[in-house]
Amino acid sequence: MNTIEQLNEYVMPSYGRYSLVLEKGESTTALDESGKEYIDFGSGIGVNSLGFCNEKWADAVCGQVRTIQHTSNYYYTKVQADFAKKLCEASGYDKLFFGNSGAEANECAIKIARKYSFDRYGGDAQRNVIITLENSFHGRTMATLSATGQESFHNYFFPFLGGFVNVKANDIDDLRLKLKENEGKVCAVMFELVQGEGGVVPLEKDFVEAIFEECQKWDILTICDEVQSGVMRTGKLLTSQVYGVKPDITTLAKGLAGGIPIGVCLANEKCSSVLSAGTHGSTFGGNPIACAGGLAVLETVLADGFDSEVVEKGEYLREKLVEIDEIEGVDGIALMIGIRLKTKKASEVCKACLDNGLLALTAKDKLRFLPPLNITKDEIDKGIAILKRVLE
Ligand SMILES: *Cc1c(COP(=O)(O)O)cnc(C)c1O
Repeated sequence: MNTIEQLNEYVMPSYGRYSLVLEKGESTTALDESGKEYIDFGSGIGVNSLGFCNEKWADAVCGQVRTIQHTSNYYYTKVQADFAKKLCEASGYDKLFFGNSGAEANECAIKIARKYSFDRYGGDAQRNVIITLENSFHGRTMATLSATGQESFHNYFFPFLGGFVNVKANDIDDLRLKLKENEGKVCAVMFELVQGEGGVVPLEKDFVEAIFEECQKWDILTICDEVQSGVMRTGKLLTSQVYGVKPDITTLAKGLAGGIPIGVCLANEKCSSVLSAGTHGSTFGGNPIACAGGLAVLETVLADGFDSEVVEKGEYLREKLVEIDEIEGVDGIALMIGIRLKTKKASEVCKACLDNGLLALTAKDKLRFLPPLNITKDEIDKGIAILKRVLE
């Protein structure tokens, strides 16, 4: 049995996979079993934020593995304390909770929102509705699936969790209508500032401002899901900083630890102590290896000038893309990129890119690029050359 046959024999068939076995990687290049090279414009869905096996990151992770790999949250570790401090200080949040994935970070946010209202307004108030947006994606657990505002996800697994109401993205009237219909019942509005899986669609500024205005008025928490858009992907540590807003809660995961599973829920003073002892937990949450990886990522992306380089490279990539005839337009912010094609199907272009040595992604009917944040212009040029060949 080769690798592909063996995996398909023993792993559940829940993923559509390409017939490609990746063996190793270095910075923006991956190698398959035969030694063929691939330029990586996908970063394992925005996870490998410093590319493959970045030296500083690998040293930090390997060093931690050889020092202490896990302790349980009955005890303290310095690396968890250091990472938490650095992330809270850099993001401007009061406290955080550690989980292991984006869905878990969002589960934590949902629990905080409901308990915040419970503590303040009492259980009888039933103030537990969370407004989410149509075309959103918040994860694959039952609560986060229920939160996800895409019909295609609401199959098979009935009953879904109640208490989620969808609003049309960028429709202020619909937001006000749903708040009115659920008056006194809403505890949070949860949204992605750039809808990732929904097609790399940034929310309009007016709509975002309306969310914050309404939430302020009714003591409703704002939850920003930055699982995909966070950690410098859009040129600032958080995309909310690009928009100039301060959500009560922000969730991070994908790019945060450079390839080690992690999820973080950040909260401001208003709700950072809602989860009292015993109300939430995670065996692996705040694992020292993940924290060491996260520290290395933060130290790298928060270094002077890194943010403006991300913006500059995003612009450079965009300029190259719009020159291509088959490309109708480019959406997204900085290195979070969605590409609208004129005639070709994104899924077919993505497959053709792979065959030609470029790892890309799709999101809805768009081609999606989430390259490593430290990609070089040279590597961008190499990837663009492959894309051009594919689109010609
Ligand atoms: C990927 C993603 C999630 C889910 O993250 P997992 O780590 O797969 O649980 C949640 N929200 C957004 C915006 C995402 O892009």
